Amino acid sequence: MPEERASKRYKPSADEVVNPYLADNQDGLDNIHTRSTPKKKLGFEKSSANGLQDAPLTNFVRHQTTAEQALKVEDGPLNPFNLKPLSQKYFDILKIRRGLPVHLQRQEFLDLYHSTQILVFVGETGSGKTTQIPQFVLFDDLPHLEGKMVACTQPRRVAAMSVAKRVADELDVALGEEVGYSIRFEDNTSNRTILKYMTDGMLLREAMNDHNLDRYSCIILDEAHERTLATDILMGLLKEIALRRKELKIIIMSATLDAQKFQMYFHDAPLLAVPGRTHPVEIYYTPEYQRDYLEAAIQTVLQIHATEPSGDILLFLTGEEEIEDACRKISLEADELIRETDCGELKVYPLYGSLPPQQQQKIFEPAPGPRVKNGPPGRKIVISTNIAETSLTIDGIVYVIDPGFSKQKVYNPRIRVESLLVAPISKASAQQRAGRAGRTRPGKCFRLYTEEAFKKELNEQSYPEILRSNLSSTVLELKKLGIDDLVHFDFMDPPAPETMMRALEELNYLACLDDDGNLTPLGRLASDFPLDPMLAVMLITSPEFYCSNEMLSLTALLSVPSIFVRPNSARKKADEMKMTFRHVDGDHLTLLNVYHAFKSPEAQYNPAQWCYDHFLSLRSLQSADNVRLQLKRIMEKNDLDLISTPFEDPNYYNNVRRALTSGFFMQVAKKSSSGKHYITVKDNQDVLLHPSTVLEKESEWVVYNEFVLTTKNYIRTVTTIKPEWLFELAPAYFDINT
Ligand code: ADP
Ligand code: MG
Repeated sequence: MPEERASKRYKPSADEVVNPYLADNQDGLDNIHTRSTPKKKLGFEKSSANGLQDAPLTNFVRHQTTAEQALKVEDGPLNPFNLKPLSQKYFDILKIRRGLPVHLQRQEFLDLYHSTQILVFVGETGSGKTTQIPQFVLFDDLPHLEGKMVACTQPRRVAAMSVAKRVADELDVALGEEVGYSIRFEDNTSNRTILKYMTDGMLLREAMNDHNLDRYSCIILDEAHERTLATDILMGLLKEIALRRKELKIIIMSATLDAQKFQMYFHDAPLLAVPGRTHPVEIYYTPEYQRDYLEAAIQTVLQIHATEPSGDILLFLTGEEEIEDACRKISLEADELIRETDCGELKVYPLYGSLPPQQQQKIFEPAPGPRVKNGPPGRKIVISTNIAETSLTIDGIVYVIDPGFSKQKVYNPRIRVESLLVAPISKASAQQRAGRAGRTRPGKCFRLYTEEAFKKELNEQSYPEILRSNLSSTVLELKKLGIDDLVHFDFMDPPAPETMMRALEELNYLACLDDDGNLTPLGRLASDFPLDPMLAVMLITSPEFYCSNEMLSLTALLSVPSIFVRPNSARKKADEMKMTFRHVDGDHLTLLNVYHAFKSPEAQYNPAQWCYDHFLSLRSLQSADNVRLQLKRIMEKNDLDLISTPFEDPNYYNNVRRALTSGFFMQVAKKSSSGKHYITVKDNQDVLLHPSTVLEKESEWVVYNEFVLTTKNYIRTVTTIKPEWLFELAPAYFDINT
């Protein structure tokens, strides 16, 4: 029970606190000072010649005892947070932490931090920004004494989870206690949490209900150079909150050196730059254009392994499927290489957003040793999405392979389509990627494109996400945040007026905003769900269609990575299996069928085996279960009924399709007169049904979940509907558009 634990927790009062950083003698304990006046700041001491060596990072002890007595028990120094003996691991990590570049500038950082409300902090990737800066603040401000927390945002879930785990290890506490993380659909914090890593999107959601973000004493926006939509909005909000809360501290952290834009935006906020400590990286280009960059990448990996001195490899690819594919191929080829030569072992690790946390942590394991005595050492290769570009640092990387692509969001307001596309990266990204090779010693970066392409075809910087997104979620959030005048909101880069108009229009059709642009009760409710507005509206209105239980399941299934597994080696079999769950009316209903089968006693008896046999992803189904639970709680909190039509009722599936239409009426397509393709109602685009659909071509009208742009335009996850429903359920939209 958290409450019970909390009551047992030792809570030091202000004048009970000592600062362990001041301890620097042989046993590390002689010189501990008691904090005397509650308001006095407790700066870290500058590391001097006989400086901080290996003094424990402990800081709170009971006032009644002397510092020495409290810390000097038989087992050695105690962890100030849980009063348990500190582990050996703690001291091992401590050595590494003290070698990080930011450590040398701790005092300089703290001086500046205290002298200003907003601070821009820039440092090379791997210099210790994300893991150390929040701790500097924590030990100096002791925010928990005032019942406050420190927040540190990350654009990516993986980074939030991984870094929180690392910092919990560094402080020798259990993850989720003093140090926790919060990402969409997963809150791993407790009432003991004082340092919270979270996605920028989650902090934005919190701001919707806590307009001043009162529970935080310091907010750190990390990876600001990524310019994600949520970070951009947060910057605008924090600028306003800073005026209302003079005591709030704000740190903007970035990995790239062009921080001037941030400084200017925040009224010339002071800048602290930690000099990089990277080694030279030699850059190699391919002499000609590579048509198949995946194949080229695999060959490069093997070549490095066969011919280059020891050092780990980092390969950038674009997404889960590609990465898993590359992992398999490289493992196979490496096995062959090892059989034929005396090369060392090659360990392959994938890294992408939806990878389970335990597997994410594996990338930090050291490379394997030599296979035979005196043989060449083994090597590890991490195959990663953009996550490894600046969010996570993997030590030991010496070779970087950069095919020059990443998955990027693009939005075309004219046709109102947002999609993820594999597109060339920017020069700035290419430079960051190369930098990953020089962390620990001189390295090499192999770019799988020509030097000419680098110079002439890559943009200098990538565009901020706000300029390439559909903004309906954002506009709804801003309205909920009480920002009515969107035109005058202080955006760092204002979005195109057309994009803004489209968003307002969409929200108006969804009845989330009234004709004057004010939030309606439905809009207010929709903003309570961490979902796209269309999904939220669908869910909220589903009780009217007697199928809220089903729509809960469906929404959850649409919010997780695909539940269908389709290995290259057994595609046919996988497709056959999928057809056993098929509902003739479409993919949404098929998803529901799978979920119901998954929840049956037969499947639950051994879910892993059952999923394996049916070519389904246990991981995705389990996370759908979790998402469903979270959404259900929000439904209950808002008194939305949880009801089902009896399965025997002939209207069971019809009700589901009608509820679907009531949220997704803007994503409808009609079969063309030739019957060869479909035409979207919204923007008259010619589209094809995605090959993965279970739907047959007879359906006249369909509603789709997603528009996929590849070489062709596809609509994915489609279900057939009746046209008369459109006029009945969305008259305002269809009177105008048809
Ligand atoms: P920055 O934010 O400046 O890029 P970080 O604070 O993320 O730097 O990382 C600093 C160092 O901490 C890394 O170089 C690495 O040595 C270490 N580190 C970070 N996370 C982990 C982890 N999960 N496991 C092992 N070492 C880690
Ligand atoms: Mg970082």
